[in-house]
Order: sequence, then C-alpha cells, then structure tokens
Amino acid sequence: FSGCAMADMAESEDVIRAFSQLDEIWGKGSYSPVVYMNSSAEVKSLVGMRDGVVCTSSNADRIVSYALSKGKKVIFLPDEFLGYNTFVKMGLDRSILAYWDYPESFGGNNPNDLKRKSYVIWKGYCHVHTNFSIEDIENARRRFENCRIVVHPECKPDVVQSADASGSTEFIVNYVKNAIPGTTVVVGTELNLIRRLAEEFKDRTIVELKRSMCPNMFKITLSKLRNTLVNLPDLNRVELSSEVKEYSRLALKRMLEIVG
Ligand code: SF4
Repeated sequence: FSGCAMADMAESEDVIRAFSQLDEIWGKGSYSPVVYMNSSAEVKSLVGMRDGVVCTSSNADRIVSYALSKGKKVIFLPDEFLGYNTFVKMGLDRSILAYWDYPESFGGNNPNDLKRKSYVIWKGYCHVHTNFSIEDIENARRRFENCRIVVHPECKPDVVQSADASGSTEFIVNYVKNAIPGTTVVVGTELNLIRRLAEEFKDRTIVELKRSMCPNMFKITLSKLRNTLVNLPDLNRVELSSEVKEYSRLALKRMLEIVG
C-alpha cells in the first residue's frame, strides 16, 4: 500500500469539522472548497457535496478563479504551498488570506476576523518539496553556471520565486523537453522524475536541486504496477462506498467542465 503524507494531513474528521465551522462563520453555500488531486477519495467526496471542485497543480489558478468569479469564498486544501503559490500567481489581495491550522478550532483563527477573509489555505504540506531552500537555489547557481532552475509549486514560496520557472509535473517535463541541448536544468521535485528525465534527455544535463525522495512513491515499481494491471480487478482492490464514489466523481467532473 502506498499513501501520501500530505493527503494524510487532511483527514475526513478534520475536514468535516472545518466545513461545519465555516458554515457557521461564512454561511452554507457561500464558499467552494477546492481540493488538490493529492487527497483521499473521502475528502474529495466531502468537497463534492459542498459544490466544491478538484484541482491539479496545473489548473489550480483556473479553478480558484472560477470559484471567486461566482462570488464564492474558497478554502483550498490540503497543500499550503500550492494554495499560497496559486494565490500569488493570481495576484490576489493579501487582506483576503487566512490559514487553516487543522488541529485548532476555527483553524486557529478569530471567528470575527475569518468573516472578512475569502481565501483560506489548509496547512498541509509535502515534505519532499518543502525540503528545498533558497540556499539550495544559490548553491545550484554557483555550481552550474548559466543553469536553468525549475521547481514544483508544492515548494515554499521563496524557492518558487527564486527559481527561473515553476509548474506542475507536466510543466517540468515540457520545460526540460524544450531546453536547448547542452543546457543544464536543475529540477526541484521528487527524485524519480528527475532520474527519468536525465535518462530520457541525455543531451542535456538534468540534475536535482537537492536529493529529495518520497518513500511512498518509491513503493510503486514497474513490476508492482504490471502485477496490479494483469490481475485487475482482484489485486489491490480499493473498495469505496457508493456515496464516496458519487460525490468524488462529481468534484472531478466539475474540474473537467471548468478547464474544458
Ligand atoms: S511526493 Fe510523496 S508526500 Fe509529496 S505529494 Fe507526492 S506522494 Fe505525497
């Protein structure tokens, strides 16, 4: 079994409690939860029940923008840094921003202050991406003259802002693909992708910003994937209730409708 430490930071009980406290403060129906793909099916279904939408790291800005354009407030979960980097990318006003520290009542906010906020970010994070720092960027620029640095938006905001580019996994792949042969591209994301890119683009130098590995992703090997596919639908079967299936599908469907 392979999970995701970041997804585990938004457990159903905490999300249910957060939504009921936001109902109290903001009013039912006045907000739209936006949940990153790296979240459990149960949490996606809770979001689906509240008119919410799933997003990916490549479309988070379009999904948030859609919700705000409909006059809804937004709670973004579970990744604090994707939530904040999206907020910066959209040029939103800082006065609308608050954080949701999920172990705390009202996410650690004063309920009266929360009333005035319209973009609340859940304080979960990916330890693989928050492992990168400004020092790593500076070291890379010293080590590899004229290098290009690209990072994932799950990294901390100062790292994202100091890199040459940031974007989803697909964006990073295309960034490397479009680099002129001979270029050194320094990549800030999980090591497996960087190794794959280095293997594929041998006429470019592809190096990691820092060695940062996800133990969960390492559990997924080619042979395990093959075994699962060959033995479908019995091996590694995940059973979900019909309610979870219905509402998580709805949240996904809304995303597809919005991004086209
Ligand atoms: S790298 Fe690992 S912890 Fe981070 S989002 Fe991916 S699966 Fe989750």
